[in-house]
Amino acid sequence: MKERLQALQAEALTKVEEAATLSDLQDIRVAYLGKKGPITEVLRGMGKLSKEERPVIGELANKVRETIANELDAKKEKLEAAGLEKRLEKETLDVTLPGRPVQVGGPHLLTSIVEEIEDLFIGMGFEIKEGPEVETDYYNFEALNLPKGHPARDMQDSFYITEELLMRTHTSPVQARTMGEYKGNKPVKMICPGKVYRRDTDDATHSHQFTQVEGLYVDKNVRMSDLKGVLNRFAKQLFGEDREIRLRPSFFPFTEPSVEMDISCKVCNGEGCSVCKGTGWIEILGGGMVHPRVLEMAGYDPKVYNGFAFGMGPERIAMLKYGVDDIRHFYTNDVRFLQQYHKA
Ligand SMILES: [Zn+2]
Repeated sequence: MKERLQALQAEALTKVEEAATLSDLQDIRVAYLGKKGPITEVLRGMGKLSKEERPVIGELANKVRETIANELDAKKEKLEAAGLEKRLEKETLDVTLPGRPVQVGGPHLLTSIVEEIEDLFIGMGFEIKEGPEVETDYYNFEALNLPKGHPARDMQDSFYITEELLMRTHTSPVQARTMGEYKGNKPVKMICPGKVYRRDTDDATHSHQFTQVEGLYVDKNVRMSDLKGVLNRFAKQLFGEDREIRLRPSFFPFTEPSVEMDISCKVCNGEGCSVCKGTGWIEILGGGMVHPRVLEMAGYDPKVYNGFAFGMGPERIAMLKYGVDDIRHFYTNDVRFLQQYHKA
């Protein structure tokens, strides 16, 4: 029995020595040390041995097991190390190779313009307010001095959802909501950027969905010259310090008096060209002094408070600033168009 065990050990160690892969080692481990292996078999036959022989053989069998197991482990480590070495050799990185460029996205041109406008007004102490795009008839029209049946409602063809709910046609309802929130006893200085919706046939200058940024300043002793000052700063910062502005009388139901603001044409410097249709001026936005009725409906006493409001279309501003010729470019999301305006 002793010889059998020694022979088994020698045989197993030779095989371990010759093993070339980890799976070879696993096979050897199962074959020699497994439950059905020859060593287990030897141990099973121990019952036939004499009392004196039993512990001697037992000890030897355990020793043989241990030796084979140790050799297996040592060889395994060796094979693994060699494998790693090989892999490292194969997978060597050439750090001098140029990298693959990663496609980097950027904000949409409209997002950039809106953020630019926001930054400008935040700098002048305005806060940014948001409101729902599905709006009630009350906030969208009535609170802004446009009662049911008012002819000026026709200026804004609307998407109605029910009799009383519609897709907001301008961001002005956010102004009415904010004034309501401040309960008529606190100054309001806010801008509200957001999407608005009108029933329009889409073409180069019209879109049924577009963006607005409106502003509102309500306090005691707000004057028209304050509005002019704010709009002048806005125009110069967005379009260049050399731009001039002019205010023309206009009409909006929610402001009185109402104005429209033009900036001097950059292309011809006021001489008149095709861009400004020969006038030397380009229309940018509308505004005016908040109508007393609007203040009253929001809970502000028009004898104590007054204010100005204005509204602009970031699409139009982006089109003028960057020479975009079709409003639909903003919404068709052609990457070739959008990428031109990604800032590095
Ligand atoms: Zn011009």
